[in-house]
Amino acid sequence: METNSEDTVIHRQDGYDNTNPSSRQSSTNRSEINTDFIAKHVNSIVNTLADMMNCSLSKCDEAEHKRHHEFIRSPEKMYADNYLKYCFGAKYIEPEDFEYLQQILGERICVNKFLPGSIFSRYSSFKNLDNEELEKIFIDSPLMGHEYFKFVILKEAVTYLVCCNTGLPYEESDERCSQTEASVAQHKRVQEGCFPFNL
Ligand SMILES: [Zn+2]
Repeated sequence: METNSEDTVIHRQDGYDNTNPSSRQSSTNRSEINTDFIAKHVNSIVNTLADMMNCSLSKCDEAEHKRHHEFIRSPEKMYADNYLKYCFGAKYIEPEDFEYLQQILGERICVNKFLPGSIFSRYSSFKNLDNEELEKIFIDSPLMGHEYFKFVILKEAVTYLVCCNTGLPYEESDERCSQTEASVAQHKRVQEGCFPFNL
């Protein structure tokens, strides 16, 4: 499965290569956070995310860690509050570029580990994770790593890219990305598109 996803990434990168004329057009009529921009920043995103995941303090002053610490405090609440929401940062990143971000981060940091004492059952976790409390949450609920990826990792990665792209501080970028986030119920009420910017 890993090989397949790698192939897909390579194809997608080729599709957005600078030699492709459609990639040049993108800077004028699409968001500048495209696959090239993401690929350029992915190493620093991975490093920033590793610092966040491995912060084992129960409380810290880093604004970038807020979701991470909320998740550790109550993964169930995080799930209940977020599982129907989407379009975080939709004003800044197109769906296909978001998909690319999701894929490249998945390959770089996600891993399935064997549950303790089992040689068959696995749970979703992250490479280089050194945070016992977070790892325990993933072991106790083997799919919770997916939720952490969706609700914490991807949002922080998008916010990071928006900071790099706009030069805005973290809090402002995060606030702007959150403004487009909508629940399924809200989406149904907005008949055209999924971006109720003026909520
Ligand atoms: Zn922290």
